[in-house]
Amino acid sequence: MTNINILSPHVADMIAAGEVVERPASVIKELVENSIDAGADSITIEIKNGGSSMIRITDNGSGMSPEDAGIAFMRHATSKLHDEYGLDSISTMGFRGEALAAISAVSRIDMVTREQGAEQGTRVILEAGDIQNMEECGCPYGTTITVRDLFYNTPARRKFLKTERSETTACTQTAVRCALSRPDISIHYIKDGSEEFFTPGDGDSLSGMYAIFGRDFANKMLSCNGSNDKVSVKGYVSSPAACRGNRAYQYFFCNNRYIRSPLLQAAVEQAYENSMLVGHYPACCLYIDIGYGAVDVNVHPTKTEVKFMEEKKVFDAVYHAALAAIQKENLLSTPAAPTDAAKISESDSVPAFRPSGTPARPETFRPRYEDSPARSYRSNTAPRDEAPVPFAFSGGSAAEQTSLDGFGATRPQPSGASDPEPQTKKSSSEVPPFRMIGEVMNTYILVQQDEKLIIIDKHACHERIIFDRLLTEDRSVMSQILMVPVTVKTDEETATLLEENGELLTDLGFELEPYGDNSHIIRAVPADMYESDVTAAFEEICQQLKDHRTVDLEARKTNILKTVACKAAIKAGWKTDVRELFVLAEAVVSQQIKYCPHGRPVAVVYTREDLDKEFKRIV
Ligand code: ADP
Ligand code: MG
Repeated sequence: MTNINILSPHVADMIAAGEVVERPASVIKELVENSIDAGADSITIEIKNGGSSMIRITDNGSGMSPEDAGIAFMRHATSKLHDEYGLDSISTMGFRGEALAAISAVSRIDMVTREQGAEQGTRVILEAGDIQNMEECGCPYGTTITVRDLFYNTPARRKFLKTERSETTACTQTAVRCALSRPDISIHYIKDGSEEFFTPGDGDSLSGMYAIFGRDFANKMLSCNGSNDKVSVKGYVSSPAACRGNRAYQYFFCNNRYIRSPLLQAAVEQAYENSMLVGHYPACCLYIDIGYGAVDVNVHPTKTEVKFMEEKKVFDAVYHAALAAIQKENLLSTPAAPTDAAKISESDSVPAFRPSGTPARPETFRPRYEDSPARSYRSNTAPRDEAPVPFAFSGGSAAEQTSLDGFGATRPQPSGASDPEPQTKKSSSEVPPFRMIGEVMNTYILVQQDEKLIIIDKHACHERIIFDRLLTEDRSVMSQILMVPVTVKTDEETATLLEENGELLTDLGFELEPYGDNSHIIRAVPADMYESDVTAAFEEICQQLKDHRTVDLEARKTNILKTVACKAAIKAGWKTDVRELFVLAEAVVSQQIKYCPHGRPVAVVYTREDLDKEFKRIV
């Protein structure tokens, strides 16, 4: 009795389809890759109902001849690979000749295509992989493929689709990756009849990010370039101030292909080690170019994982490029323009890698990459062995001051903290010695550290400290019951938003009670917030909820926390205890914070040289 059957090609296609076409988003990926391979410089992606009822990709690429259109849907039909020798140097996105066969096996397809220069186009209709009709037709140059009713003939797979909403999100994510992968191609994305984004295809990924994520996002990106003998890196990384609560905005492309890579993630994140908030991650859009032989893309059918032959070279290039971008920004945020890289002694150790266009600079941070990428990976959660206590110690003991908001455990105590005179900080491994000169205008703290005069904005600095703590708190934000509840009346839209975001607001320490007629009673607010600021803070939060209704929960939360931090921080113009000022100075001097949550610098630095120049002691 025989147990082994040879599967019919049809069944084999349906099985293979499962590998290539997991969900609607994978259809988008495959079809857009085909359009890119066909040399298109304009591609439109349309979806309906999370892609399960319709996906349409239109391109202005090479198009297909009637003969090719007839065989393109057959398994292993490819124009991109002729023999095994080609496998080592694949430069096209596709090469397996699987995608069209796989997609058509599990859907209804309508394709129109016209080869550049041809008189006529061809229309092919397929159902479950079988050609139903093929005829000449009039159409523009290029190809339009419409995929309907995905998985209609494989109910088991259809059942595995997630909700329409999450399939839509996956489609959008894929469209974004496609668009960012090729800034030189204009990509138009239309979701359920409405335009989501339209990238210009001008070759600059910043324009792409602007089109996709908006102006605020794009404005906070720093250009990032570098190369070594094996790898070139270009693109953008976020300013440390614009880092986010998750890695959702980290995009890596290798030879123009979107990839996932813990190695590259670690390389970028390590560059932010001293300038990023705990629990935050940089955003980035980085293009790694590497010889085709030096990277293996053939590890997985969906090809988002790659294997670099020389991981250390790749890691170093990315790390140094990101670091140079951040350091350049730091230099720009001091008021002294002359403090540029050129003045820094060339005799300092010069890294083997040098970011293009940047003079040699001493390295302040060193990559921890050793031999395995896993080892170099650093979790972004700082150890916290001590519960944070609120920032307030009027008359408190020195011991209380050692556990300040968001600053980890082992903090040295300020010497003579109760002495209102200017103090000199004892040296410690974490905080370099500094001298506090005093405060001016009830706003700015003056500090001397080495040969530098540091001027700190006390509100911005405190705001950041509170924000850091709120953000890293793993429990819900502590709340305080208001002595006198506040009633607020809003418009209907806001009232609905408040209800929709009820859980988030509760989590952040607010207690709201609907009071009818679009009114709410605020019974409790986050513990840090000043009562006098409740109404103003609340108005700000309502506005944020309106402005950011489409962003994800994490981003909405971060925005609200910024407002809470702002309303909880000491204010410019207020009298502040010198010990509080001291702790703020310490946080700045030890480089734990650089920007306020809104991205403004918390301090400006004048070097001796800057001052000497101002006073014309030197020229
Ligand atoms: P692969 O991309 O791996 O070659 P596919 O199944 O995705 O396999 O596509 C099969 C072939 O169909 C391609 O090699 C290409 O010749 C042709 N083709 C697919 N899509 C397009 C398109 N948008 N424009 C022109 N030709 C295309
Ligand atoms: Mg393909």
